[in-house]
Amino acid sequence: MANWLKKGASAEVKADADRKVRDIVEATLADIEQRGDEAVRELSIKFDQWEREDYRLSDAEIQACIDSLSSQDLKDIEFAQTQVRNFAQIQRESMRDVEVETLPGVVLGHRNIPLNSAGCYVPGGKYPLLASAHMSVITAKVAGVPRVITCAPPFRGKPAPAIVAAQALAGADAIYALGGIQAVGAMALGTESISPVDILVGPGNAFVAEAKRQLYGRVGIDLFAGPTETLVIADDSVDAELCATDILGQVEHGPDSPGILLTNSEQLARETMAEIERLLQVLPTADHARKAWENFGEVIVAESYEEMVAIADDIASEHVQVMTRDPDYFLNNMTNYGALFLGPRTNVAYGDKTIGTNHTLPTKKAARYTGGLWVGKFLKTCTYQKVLTDEASALVGEYCSRLCGLEGFAGHGEQANIRVRRYGHRDVPY
Ligand code: NAD
Repeated sequence: MANWLKKGASAEVKADADRKVRDIVEATLADIEQRGDEAVRELSIKFDQWEREDYRLSDAEIQACIDSLSSQDLKDIEFAQTQVRNFAQIQRESMRDVEVETLPGVVLGHRNIPLNSAGCYVPGGKYPLLASAHMSVITAKVAGVPRVITCAPPFRGKPAPAIVAAQALAGADAIYALGGIQAVGAMALGTESISPVDILVGPGNAFVAEAKRQLYGRVGIDLFAGPTETLVIADDSVDAELCATDILGQVEHGPDSPGILLTNSEQLARETMAEIERLLQVLPTADHARKAWENFGEVIVAESYEEMVAIADDIASEHVQVMTRDPDYFLNNMTNYGALFLGPRTNVAYGDKTIGTNHTLPTKKAARYTGGLWVGKFLKTCTYQKVLTDEASALVGEYCSRLCGLEGFAGHGEQANIRVRRYGHRDVPY
């Protein structure tokens, strides 16, 4: 049986926090729906102390942001965007349209149709998270979405130049300096100045993630991608410094970001806890990281790989870093995770910033039913059918007619019957 050396906040504490966020978001979205741009402006002033006549950035403002970056900054952004684009293109090519004759004269198919518009949220409250621009804008463009707009909040009083540059270089069609609920609300519901989009994508804090959840149905959403979570699975093939670094590297996102160590070595567990305390003394972002570790950090000692897989699947963490003698055991056996980082040579920061897989990933156990953002989220897989011969129509029609009878659907049944009579030249069974 596994032993929890450190436990995170209780389910009640988490549910209470969720309830408070839910209420704020509900009232705020209702206000945006009712008052449009006027509400958006007031909310932007209230939450971000940020006011403009028009929240859309002009071409000159965008160019000024790009020009303000060093050539190394631009090369680094270009490298990351190339990796994201390359992988997204390969994923796009894997999504083939299908057309097949399933019975003589019966043709079934599906087409992958890009959505007409997408609203990409790029977080920027605590850090200017420019990488999120690559992840959503590039992926939408590779999928073939014609209209891609994007919002990010002001950072320290003005649009963050690196975010704006990344949004523009990724190929966004319009860039707005707006954050939080007001940004996703405006993109989804539309205002006088922003036309509504078909899907909202991108990560964000608890308010952004909850706003997307509440807007689902009115628009599509990619997934529930709230405050970052990380699970490090390790055995004694790695040391405590690596485990502690990989936990702190993610909990620095904010005070509500859980970091968990799951190991079969009690010694590694205790050494990692001590190492985290040591590193928190020197980490420049220790303010967020300490609160997150104290409130939500967990350390679990399990007895076997098998038990580790069961616990990890139950946690269903956004990121899972596996540093064991046999990382592929976890690849082959785990089923619930946003993304896996296999072996000590890679890590979550590579995935977050550079390597090419998407960093917008499911949180709060959403990994039970979805993976992360990818081109497929911007495509509708829509089916079609054709019946090429009279015989095929009459054959399917007879089965259909009887099955309609079983359900008591006379009108459906007649849709089949009329075809059995016309194309099969025989009486109907129902
Ligand atoms: P953010 O852009 O998500 O949120 C900032 C906005 O929140 C502000 O513009 C403000 O309008 C709004 N806000 C702040 N306090 C509010 C309040 N009390 N009421 C209403 N609105 C409020 O930036 P952030 O806060 O730095 O959060 C980014 C988040 O994104 C982090 O939690 C990070 O872990 C998460 N993230 C998740 C993933 C993922 O894929 N799941 C990836 C990257 C980042």
